[in-house]
Amino acid sequence: LKLRLSEMRGLRGAFSFYRDRIERFDKDLKAFLQVLQSSAEETERSFPFSLKDNILALGTRTTCSSRILENYESPYDATVTCKLKESGGHLLGKTNLDEFAMGSSTENSAFFTSRNPWDLSRIPGGSSGGSAAAVAAGLTPFALGSDTGGSVRQPASMCGIVGFKPTYGLVSRYGLVAFASSLDQIGPMTRCVQDAADVMSIISGHDVKDSTTVKSSLSFNIDLKGEVKGLKMAVPEEMLDYRGLEDGVKASFMDAVEELKRAGAVIEKISIPSVKYAVATYYLIAPAEASSNLSRFDGIRFGPRHEATNYDELVSRNRDMGFGREVKRRILLGTFTLSAAYYDAYYRKALRTRKLMANELKAVLTEFDFILNPSSPVVAPVIGEISDPLSYYLMDIYTIPANVAGLPSISVPIAPVDGLPTGMLLTGRRFSDVKLLEAASFIEGFS
Ligand code: GLN
Repeated sequence: LKLRLSEMRGLRGAFSFYRDRIERFDKDLKAFLQVLQSSAEETERSFPFSLKDNILALGTRTTCSSRILENYESPYDATVTCKLKESGGHLLGKTNLDEFAMGSSTENSAFFTSRNPWDLSRIPGGSSGGSAAAVAAGLTPFALGSDTGGSVRQPASMCGIVGFKPTYGLVSRYGLVAFASSLDQIGPMTRCVQDAADVMSIISGHDVKDSTTVKSSLSFNIDLKGEVKGLKMAVPEEMLDYRGLEDGVKASFMDAVEELKRAGAVIEKISIPSVKYAVATYYLIAPAEASSNLSRFDGIRFGPRHEATNYDELVSRNRDMGFGREVKRRILLGTFTLSAAYYDAYYRKALRTRKLMANELKAVLTEFDFILNPSSPVVAPVIGEISDPLSYYLMDIYTIPANVAGLPSISVPIAPVDGLPTGMLLTGRRFSDVKLLEAASFIEGFS
C-alpha cells in the first residue's frame, strides 16, 4: 500500500487488488457512490485513482451527492481528470460527499453517510469524507477532494491520512462543480506526503479553461527529504485558546510542536486577532457565492423536472425536491446577504474582514515560514451526534483562514487520541507549496 505512483504504473493487478478491497470493505464504509467497470486491457498499464463526486469524468455520472444531479452524465472531463488520464491514470470510482460539498461529515449527502474506517460508528469528516475513508482503508491509492473551507484537510485529519489544499490558482477548477468559486480548490488526499507531491506534479498547472489559474514555475517533481531545521513557525494563540478544542487533540498537537522544536524548528506563539472572525466571514461569503452558483440548477437545464402549471412553480418545485436542507439553508442565507437591503451590512463587511484577515496572515507569514494549528478541534464525532449546523460550522475555524487568503495548507497525521486520528495543519505563504510539503513530510514521521 505504500507504493509511489510512479512505481504503480507498471504494476500488474493494481486494479483487481483495489476492486477486491472495495468489494470486501465498502459495504461497511460506504465511501463510494459508484465503482466503475473497466476491462483488464484498459487498466493494464495504468494506476487507479478516485474522484470526489463533484469532479467531472466524461461518460460517468457526477451527482454532487444531490438529488438534483442524480442522473447527470458528465459531458466532459475536468482538467484534473484529463491530466490524470493522460499520465496513465484510470478512474476507479466516485466518492461520497456532503451535498454540493456543503458540510463536514457526509451526513448531508442525499444518498447515505460514509463511515470512518477507524470506528464505523463515526463520521469520516467532510465534505470529502468518501475520498478520505477510501484512502484510509486502502480502497484506492489516492483520491482527489475539493476544499472550500477545509473539506480536504478536515476529513484527512479525521481519517488519519494526508490532505493538501494547494495555493489558490495552482490547480484548475474546470470541471469541478462550483460551490464558492473564490475559495474552491481541488487537492490530493493521500497516504503519505510524497504521494501528495506526486499527484500535484500531475494535476497542477496553468489552464486556459480556468482564468484563475496561474502560470507558476513551481515543480512538484521532487523527492521529499523532510527537513525542518531552522524553519520559523508560528502558533496563533487564538487558535489554541479556542473553547471547542478537545484536551486530547490539544495534547497531541503540543507533543508534535515539541518534537518539531527538538528537530531544530523555531516555534513562537503569536496573535492573529482577525481569526476570531474567520467562521463568520466564511459563512457569509461561501453561501453568497453558492446561492449564485447554484442558480443554474432549475430542473430544466439540470435535474428531474416535476409537474407544474407555470414557470415559477416549475422552478421552485424542481429546486424544492432537488435540494436538501443544508443546501437550501445556504441558498437562503446567501440570497439574503446579497440582497440590496443587506449587501452593505453583511456581504460587503465580510469582504472587508476577508481582506483584513488576508493582510494579517500575510504579515505573520513574512516573518514566519508556517502557521501551525490542529486541523480540527475535535476527533471524528459519532454519526448523528451533532445535529445543529452551527456546531459543525464552528469546527471549521482552523481550516478556513487558508481558503479566505488563498494560502497553501496541509493536514498531516500526528499521534492519535484514544485510537482516533488527529492532524496537524501547516499553512504557508502563497506559492510556498513545495516548502510546505517538505516540512509536512518530516512531521508525518511522528505518527
Ligand atoms: N465545512 C465547510 C462547509 O460546510 C467546508 C466545506 C468545503 O470545504 N467544501 O462549508
